Amino acid sequence: MFTRLACWLLVASIPGTFSTVAAPLKVLIIDGQNNHDWKATTPVLRQILEDTAVFSVEVATSPPANGDMKSFRPNFSAYRVIVSNYNGVPWSDETKRAFLEYVRGGGGFVSVHAADNAFPEWKEYNEMIGLGGWGDRNETSGPYLRLRDGVWVQDISKGRGGSHGDQHPFVLDTREPTHPIMAGLPAQWMHAKDELYDRLRGPGGPDLTVLASAFSSKETHGSGEHEPLLMCRTYGQGRVFHTALGHGLEAIRCLGFATTFQRGTEWAATGKVTQKAPPLFPTADKVSSRTP
Ligand code: ZN
Repeated sequence: MFTRLACWLLVASIPGTFSTVAAPLKVLIIDGQNNHDWKATTPVLRQILEDTAVFSVEVATSPPANGDMKSFRPNFSAYRVIVSNYNGVPWSDETKRAFLEYVRGGGGFVSVHAADNAFPEWKEYNEMIGLGGWGDRNETSGPYLRLRDGVWVQDISKGRGGSHGDQHPFVLDTREPTHPIMAGLPAQWMHAKDELYDRLRGPGGPDLTVLASAFSSKETHGSGEHEPLLMCRTYGQGRVFHTALGHGLEAIRCLGFATTFQRGTEWAATGKVTQKAPPLFPTADKVSSRTP
């Protein structure tokens, strides 16, 4: 009897049969609590990823802050990469342990905007994201990363962790032009109006690669420093991409945000980037956005 399984085994055994069409990378977006409008942004984050045909995306929505968080137990290992649009109460110890095992074991993680505000007390999470803000973060949370003579150095000065000035469009400076996430993108590009996070601090700074930064001017009530905004690192066998961009819909519809989010998510999942930069990518002085 020639079963479906036998047929599959026969076909799979012929070299080159499955040569070109790769299965989509499974992505899980986590949301449910955030001081930002996650109900509006998650569908757009999902669409940005699904537009590439590289990913298939599912969403896990946590209970509300006063709900039964023990019931929130995503099956992390069923996905290649987890995207966090979550900034809320702590997960259960069991869920935290499962997440740590997942990333250490080779899973991918992407932190979007206020996800780097989450879990100020969770040591390993802060190591993963490298730098975080708010939640009473201060010098006990780790140093700042400051650009001095072209090199990112740790700054252990006392002070708050996490701030931002007025929302405005601002220029991203590519710092690692040969990294797969940044390769082929311009040295400078204008990001749509967004919060420019400044004074993030955390324990993972020395292990971070700063992919892009932006100058936070005093005129916009910022720090007067170049601020790391796109970052990545390895963590155990896993990979983490951290975008501090993405306050709201205008920011995430920026093609600069979208492209680096798509590429960073692929890199976190596989360590490689197959996606090309879109032709309408923003230039140094002109914002370019998706519609809608
Ligand atoms: Zn924000």
